[in-house]
Amino acid sequence: MAKELPTRKEDYSLWYNELVKKADLAEHSDVRGCMVIKPYGYSIWEKMQQALDKMFKDTGHMNAYFPLFVPKSLFEAEEKNAEGFAKECAIVTHYRLKTDPQNKGKLIVDPEAELEEELVVRPTSEAIIWSTYKKWIQSYRDLPILVNQWANVVRWEMRTRLFLRTAEFLWQEGHTAHTTADEAVRETVQMLDVYADFAENFMALPVVKGRKSEGERFPGAVDTYCIEAMMQDGKALQAGTSHFLGQNFAKAFDVQFTNKEGKLGYVWGTSWGVSTRLMGALIMAHSDDDGLVLPPKLAPIHVVIVPIFRTDEELAKISDKAQEISAALRKQGFAVKFDNRDTHKPGFKFAEWELKGVPVRLAIGPRDMEAGTVEVARRDTKEKQVMKLDEVAEKIPALLDDIQATIYARAKTFRSEVTTEVNSYEEFRKVLDEKGGFLAAHWDGTPETEAAIKEETKATIRCIPLDAKEEAGVCIYSGKPSTRRVLFARAY
Ligand code: AMP
Repeated sequence: MAKELPTRKEDYSLWYNELVKKADLAEHSDVRGCMVIKPYGYSIWEKMQQALDKMFKDTGHMNAYFPLFVPKSLFEAEEKNAEGFAKECAIVTHYRLKTDPQNKGKLIVDPEAELEEELVVRPTSEAIIWSTYKKWIQSYRDLPILVNQWANVVRWEMRTRLFLRTAEFLWQEGHTAHTTADEAVRETVQMLDVYADFAENFMALPVVKGRKSEGERFPGAVDTYCIEAMMQDGKALQAGTSHFLGQNFAKAFDVQFTNKEGKLGYVWGTSWGVSTRLMGALIMAHSDDDGLVLPPKLAPIHVVIVPIFRTDEELAKISDKAQEISAALRKQGFAVKFDNRDTHKPGFKFAEWELKGVPVRLAIGPRDMEAGTVEVARRDTKEKQVMKLDEVAEKIPALLDDIQATIYARAKTFRSEVTTEVNSYEEFRKVLDEKGGFLAAHWDGTPETEAAIKEETKATIRCIPLDAKEEAGVCIYSGKPSTRRVLFARAY
C-alpha cells in the first residue's frame, strides 16, 4: 500500500493528523496555527457550504459581507464579548513597512505609519455588524434583518489541530435582528434545527441539540444553543452554535426602533455559526484505519472506475464502457472519476481511493467485459458484489443512499454505546476513564460545581439536552437537588 496510516487504536490523534495529510485534505502552513486547505479537502468544504447556503436561503436569509477589521473602540462596546475574545485577538497597529536602514533587504514597521486607532482582526463579527445595523434600523418596518456572511475569522488559539481548532478558520456567521424576544428565540432555535438537519442528513452525523451552561456560553449572549457530536475515540465535539443575544448588542451599539405604536425600543438579536471544524467532525466520526469514509452527499467523487488491463486494446474497450457508465451517472447528478492512469497498478489505485473515501468503486477487467459484469465495492462496509454492466448506472443511486444511511446508523449505534447514565461521582470518573463518551448525570446547576468537575476530570458540560426529561435527582458532585440530567464529556 502506498500510504499506510497508524491505526485508530494505536494512536487516534496521530491517525487523525496523518489521515488529514495523506488524504490530501489539508496541511500545516508556514504560519503558526494556520492550515492550507488542499483542493480535495476544499471541495468537501464547498459541498458543505452549498448545502448549508441553500438551507439558509430557504429559511429567508441573504448573504452579505462586512470588513475583516474592527476598530478597537467598536470592538470594546459590548464588554462581555470584548473581554471574552480579548485574549485571542490579533491587532493591526501600523499600515506600512519600510526598508531597514541598518539591515539591507529587511523591512521594519514604519513608526510614522501608526494607525490612529488600532484594528482588531475579527474573531467574530457582532461588533462591526451591529454598528452597521444602527444605520439600517429605524423602525419596525426595517425588521427583521436576516443576514449571513461566509468569511474567515482569526482567534489566536495556542493549541491548534488541523480543522478542529485553527488560528484562522473559515465559517459562516448569521446575524439577525428582530422586533421581539420571542421572534429572536424562534430564529435561534430554527437555526439550531437547520444545523442538526445538516449534520444528520448530509454529514450522516447524529447530534444532540442542547443549551450551554452559563460557563460555556458565548461571550455577550443571553443563551447559547449547540449541537454536540461524538467522535470515535469517545470525545465530544461542538459542531455548531446558535446564540440568542437578547438586546445586549443593540444596547451596546444603541440600535433602537420605533414599533407600530410609535414607541422606541431596543432590537433583539441572534448569531449562529459553523466552521471548518465540521470537516474535522466528518473525518473523526466515520473514517477507519484504511482512510476516509465520506457520506455520499458530501463526497467530491461518488464513484471511481478502475480499469484492469494489460494491453492498450483492453484499456480501449474498458474505456468505452466506462465512459458510458460515467455519462449515465453524471446525468443523474453524480461525480464519476475514471482512473485510467497507466503509471499505477489497480491495487495501488484501490488503496488510494479508499484512503480518499470515495463511496463506490467499480473495477472492470477483460473478463468482466466478456461476461457483461462489473465488481462493485462499497467503501463503508468494504462489501463487494457483482453487477451487470447494463444495470450498474441504474443501481448505483440506491447503493449510495444505502451507504449514506448505513454510515449514519453506524455512528448513531456507536454514540448510544458510549452514552452512559451515571449516578455517583465515583461511577462518573470510572466510566469517563474506562469508556469515555457522553455521561448523563445530575448537576446542581452551579458554575462552581461545573468548574470543579472540569478541573478534576477535564470533562465539561457539553450541553443541557433540549429533550432532557424532568427527573428528580441529586448532583453527582455536591449532592444538591437537580431536576434533569446534563451531558458531560471530554471534548475537542
Ligand atoms: P462561536 O462563535 O464561538 O460560537 O463558534 C462558532 C463555531 O465555530 C462553532 O461551531 C465552533 O465550534 C467553531 N469554532 C470555534 N473556534 C474555532 C476554531 N479555533 N477553529 C475552528 N472552529 C472553531
